[in-house]
Amino acid sequence: MATAGFTCVHCSKWFRSKIGLGVHMQSQHREEYEASIKVPKSKTRWSAEEIALMAMSEANFLREGRSLEVNSYLLSQFPNRTREAIKGQRRQVKYKDLVKEYMSKTLVSSGPCSADLDSFGSASSVSVSSPSSSNLTTSL
Ligand SMILES: [Zn+2]
Repeated sequence: MATAGFTCVHCSKWFRSKIGLGVHMQSQHREEYEASIKVPKSKTRWSAEEIALMAMSEANFLREGRSLEVNSYLLSQFPNRTREAIKGQRRQVKYKDLVKEYMSKTLVSSGPCSADLDSFGSASSVSVSSPSSSNLTTSL
């Protein structure tokens, strides 16, 4: 209990409280502190969801018969990514497999990428809200 405390990882200075350490970090190790909280955009890792979304976008794009300028198209869909990052991702086998998978799926006419996720969400929220509104009308 008496030995509890917080040690600075950068200079090994000891602090009684976490707040004290936080203040020290912000004043003495500003750069390291900020680097530890925010990750630069281009270096954030791709989430599985984002990769799937990009593969879907590419599959839709290719389905339209367009095969040139895929990188430019994807860059416009994912403005937070750099062209290099997109090109790098497109070289991954996992990504290529995803594109093939989406390409082989039957065309849904209502189609853009997030179609099935969207209809899922809106369908359930509609069915939840409608009974309560019919209750109101019957009580009136
Ligand atoms: Zn320190």
